[in-house]
Amino acid sequence: MSKVFVVDIDKCNGCHNCQVACKDEHCNQAWPPYAEAQPLTGQFWMKVKEKERGQVPVVRLSYIPWMCNHCEDAACMKAAPDAVHRREDGLVIIDPEKAKGKREIADACPVGAVYYNEELYLPQKCTGCAHLLDNGWDVPRCVDACPTEALRYVEESEVDLNEATTLSELDGAGPRVYYLNYPKRFVAGLVFDPEVEEVVVGAEVKLTGSDGKTLETTTDDFGDFKFDQVEADVYRIDLSADGYADKTVQTDVREIDRFVGDIELEFSGDRSAYPSAAETARAQRAAAELKWTEMRASMKTVAPATANFAVVCPSCGKKVNTNAEAGSIRCQFCKADLTELVKEKAAELAAKKAAAQA
Ligand code: SF4
Ligand code: SF4
Ligand code: SF4
Repeated sequence: MSKVFVVDIDKCNGCHNCQVACKDEHCNQAWPPYAEAQPLTGQFWMKVKEKERGQVPVVRLSYIPWMCNHCEDAACMKAAPDAVHRREDGLVIIDPEKAKGKREIADACPVGAVYYNEELYLPQKCTGCAHLLDNGWDVPRCVDACPTEALRYVEESEVDLNEATTLSELDGAGPRVYYLNYPKRFVAGLVFDPEVEEVVVGAEVKLTGSDGKTLETTTDDFGDFKFDQVEADVYRIDLSADGYADKTVQTDVREIDRFVGDIELEFSGDRSAYPSAAETARAQRAAAELKWTEMRASMKTVAPATANFAVVCPSCGKKVNTNAEAGSIRCQFCKADLTELVKEKAAELAAKKAAAQA
């Protein structure tokens, strides 16, 4: 039984707590025999990377917590077997004594997780907080600091990793940091009727990949469509909508996510038989207004409260907040005596209330 790190990208909000916690645990603080202190600058044993995808107006930002993957067949260990070892719990540790001067350890890591400390002549990286785990902690500092449980340290046998992915640079090395919901590609677009300059709502959109598999969706109230978490591939997009000629476009998302832009559909039917998006929106607004009017008409009239109200000062014309029980009262602004006015207004409101309750 050994534990693995599991990172759920969908739960990571980019707060950087994990990164800060790692610094707090290791900067200016050596934990012999596990590690020398991490320098304040230049090293990130835990780093929250930002991955920006798409093009304006459809842009998505994902946060990718990134660290040493404690590989089963670690390249850093092969570079200096006498100085790097793998513990029984799976953590890969660089011995701070034996690794002195061995820059090759830093050079060997395919994902650059090892930093070379020029002052100490020492390669350094995440220790998995082995010093804490050996002293009763269940999880490392970074995991403990994560508020959303995006970052977990769990028994491998107790977590479903079928949908998980690992860093491709470490293929074959047995990395032990697993990512859930790692960003794939998206294809987005907008469907547009250039003749009436309106978006096409409810158009059917089919996305077909090179393997022939098809995904389907429809455009929303803004004419937009989006296919998320699709594989890097070249896709065919087939569009159809009532009254419009079918259209097909191609898009290549092998390297980047795509907003394919405004796709124009040519109207080929009888316009009067197909209400435009604006007409549909107008009809929806009218129906909502009618419903609201009916609701208001059916609501019981509620008498105004008499305890607190406002009067307009006859001397300065300003609005003065008051209440019926206040007794004698003066304007807050010009100090005019408003006692009689307040009494009259209170009597008037009381009469209204009585009438409403009758
Ligand atoms: S990620 Fe790099 S430093 Fe970490 S164990 Fe694998 S090869 Fe070594
Ligand atoms: S396990 Fe410890 S050393 Fe590794 S990234 Fe997390 S806090 Fe830093
Ligand atoms: S602490 Fe958790 S939520 Fe915050 S950046 Fe790190 S992994 Fe993401």
